[in-house]
Order: sequence, then structure tokens, then C-alpha cells
Amino acid sequence: MKAVAVFPGKANSAHLASLDQPDVKSIPNGRGVLVRVLRVGVDGTDKEINAAEYGAAPPGYDFLVTGHEGFGVVEKVGPNVTEFKPGDYVVATVRRPGNSIYDLIGTNDMTTDDTYFERGINLLHGFLTEFYVDDAEYIVKVPPTLRDIGVLLEPFTVVQKGITQAYEAQRRLRVWRPRKAAVMGAGTIGLLAALALKLRGLDVTVFARQPKPSLRSDLLGQIDAHYVSTLDTSILEGAKQYGPFDLIFEATGASQVVFESMQAVAKNGALVLSSVTGGNKKVEVPADKINLDFVLGNKLLVGTVNANREYFESGVRDMALGQAMYSGWMNELLTHPVEGLDSYPEAFNKLETAREAIKVFYKVASF
Ligand code: BGC
Ligand code: ZN
Repeated sequence: MKAVAVFPGKANSAHLASLDQPDVKSIPNGRGVLVRVLRVGVDGTDKEINAAEYGAAPPGYDFLVTGHEGFGVVEKVGPNVTEFKPGDYVVATVRRPGNSIYDLIGTNDMTTDDTYFERGINLLHGFLTEFYVDDAEYIVKVPPTLRDIGVLLEPFTVVQKGITQAYEAQRRLRVWRPRKAAVMGAGTIGLLAALALKLRGLDVTVFARQPKPSLRSDLLGQIDAHYVSTLDTSILEGAKQYGPFDLIFEATGASQVVFESMQAVAKNGALVLSSVTGGNKKVEVPADKINLDFVLGNKLLVGTVNANREYFESGVRDMALGQAMYSGWMNELLTHPVEGLDSYPEAFNKLETAREAIKVFYKVASF
């Protein structure tokens, strides 16, 4: 069976590897689910893995099968699986449990272990292959009406977790009625965050570099979100016009934006950080001012990574609501398909060079 793999630590080493056909019996307690892969999305993490900046092969292998944004159809289930049947559309979560207390209660996304296990990223093979098996515990059903956008579920879960974490943390306030939100970045995560915040009734402003008009600014206009190009308007000026922001979701991938965002959060507001920044960038910031305003304004800063199944389930519900409110909008994010696993050079090329690309994804097999 074919799979798209890299040699971790070796830049641009993507190649087709060969894996044995997986078997439901390899999962204990009759809880195996065999999934035929239909679509797989790629993102900045895949770019970093192929650039040898991130990722590790599973023990006993010199390669890592990539792909963590999967979408597939159940082919076969073990004898103790009651949740799925062949033909169901599904998405698998990414992180598997380690040993911390958070892993033991099903919140692997909150692990305090230094080593984490993520399919397609770290120490576990991913979904860019023809079939995979996993425990039913890590698999979530997607209704057939959402199959065209099912490949967006994993990135959407990152958004779901970040927003839920902010609301949970804001219970410190007894009363919190956020009205205005900002999203930093208009990549897949930024656009999906704008959608999720609109679905929660907020007035949303997205800050991104690209000048408007563009596909991104048009898409945001369709859901009544404001778009500010930071080429014409700084975050601080934009905050004067559209803020102050009760909730900010940072998803630019550029760490300097964090410190500008810190200056745009409203009193009692929350700033959610979701960019995984592997580099060594240094910036000068107005530290006294930022600190003072955070202290005097009782502001909250919270980091977020990954997502457990709770957020996959809420992601499915929000996808359904999203299609009800803004029919076809999420489909527009699927800008750059490539056909089949053999197209991996094209997929990496699009991921690395197509500036207008929102989501690059593989059509591994047809529905
Ligand atoms: C994935 C997350 C993962 C994170 C860190 C992201 O691209 O979507 O599931 O936790 O990378 O490895
Ligand atoms: Zn990702």
C-alpha cells in the first residue's frame, strides 16, 4: 500500500513509501476501525516537516507517513465497535494519549508530557495512505451531507478548541458577553475562526497582510466579517476603528503579531494564541505598556494546540450550522486539489508557493 512519507531531519525528502495493508485486528479489544482514505489536507505543519524543522518517525522506521487532516470512509469494523458501520464517513483525531493525568482523562490535547504522539506529525504514521486503522475511540463520524467539506474538520477543531478554551477561561469573570472579535491571519485557520466567531454572534474583524480585494476578503465579506489589510492599516489603528476586541484569535504563524495583538485586547478580554512558530525570531516590544495594560485591564492570554474528540464533535455541529447559515461558504476554502498520492510533488509545490491557496488537499480516492 502506497503512502506519502518523509525522512525526518532530511529536508525535501518526500517520497512514496510502502506500508503493509492495515488490519482491524491490530487494535485491541475488537475496537479497530479500518478506514479507506478519501481526502487529506496539508498545512504549515506539513511544510515544516518536509523542511526537516519538525516531526519524528515512529520507532522502528526511518520514515514518517505524513498527513494529519484526514477524511475517509469506514471499510470494516472490529466485533466490539457499535459506533460505526461500513460506509460511514469519518475523521480521526491527531494526538494519541501519553501518560499525564490529562491524557488519562481523554484530553490528550492538554498533555504535560514532553513527548507527544501525533499521527502524521510525531512518532506515529499519518493518513496520507490508502487505508489506516485506529481505535474507535479516536474516530468521529461526519454526516454524508458534509462530506464535501469533511477534510476541513481537523483544522476546524483547532479553532473549536481555541474558542472554547477562551470561553471556559472567561468564566473567571462571572459575566462575559463578548461582542467584538478579531482574528489575526486569513489562512485556513483564520478564515475558519472568523466563521466560528460569526456563528457565535460576534462582530468579527480579520487582519491579514494581503491587499483587498482578494478571494479572502471576498469570502469574509460574504459572512459579514470586516477585513483589514495590515499593509494599509496597522493592528492598533484597526482596533481603534473596529475594536476594542473582547476576543482575539491569533493564527498568523508570525510571533511578532502576538505583541501587537496584546495591545488590541479589550479590558477583561482574552487573546488566544494558536501559531506554532518553530523559528528563533526576536522583536523589540513596548514591554511596560503591554504589561501595564494587561494588569490594569484584567486581560487574559491563553495558548492552544491540537484538539481532542470533544472539539471534533463540536466541529461537526458547527460545520452543519455553518452550511445552514452560509451555504457553500466552507466549500470555497478548498481551493487547490491534487489528484492521488502520486501528486505529492505538486501538493508540496502548491503548499510552498501558491500564495492564493487557502487549502491544498489530496483527492486520494473518490466518494
Ligand atoms: C495540527 C495539530 C497539532 C499541531 C502541533 C497542527 O498542524 O493540526 O493537531 O497538534 O500541529 O503538532
Ligand atoms: Zn495542522
